[in-house]
Amino acid sequence: MKKDNCPYCQQGEFLAKFGYLAFETETSEVIVFKDQSHPGRAIVAYKKDHVAEIQDLSDEERNAFMKDVSDVAKAIQKAYNPDRINYGAYGDTLGHLHFHIVPKYKDGFEWGGTFVMNTGNLVDEAKCEEVAQQIKKYYKA
Ligand SMILES: [Zn+2]
Repeated sequence: MKKDNCPYCQQGEFLAKFGYLAFETETSEVIVFKDQSHPGRAIVAYKKDHVAEIQDLSDEERNAFMKDVSDVAKAIQKAYNPDRINYGAYGDTLGHLHFHIVPKYKDGFEWGGTFVMNTGNLVDEAKCEEVAQQIKKYYKA
């Protein structure tokens, strides 16, 4: 079931506060994170229901979701050539399953440490569309 006031369930203005919907797969929403302090940063959110935990999915659902996480990471790797990709799945307050996919660049911002959730330095929608196009270009390419 979808939940009110959840940006991943409702998309639209809730999502627009921090994310830009790039495209959807059968299982996931692929979202450009508007804080692009790590160029290419994106989110893969489970889209079928307001599900909190990966262990609440069936094996089939989990495999489909994690394949999307991996395929989007591959696309980001090809598009942005980071030295490492960090992953984060938190959701303490929101409670909707999603993974942050955060490209890290050697000796760049936050290299060698954990990434902060939000630096407050958001890019505009034109820049988000540019990132979305890059991820789409290399997705399953
Ligand atoms: Zn939700």
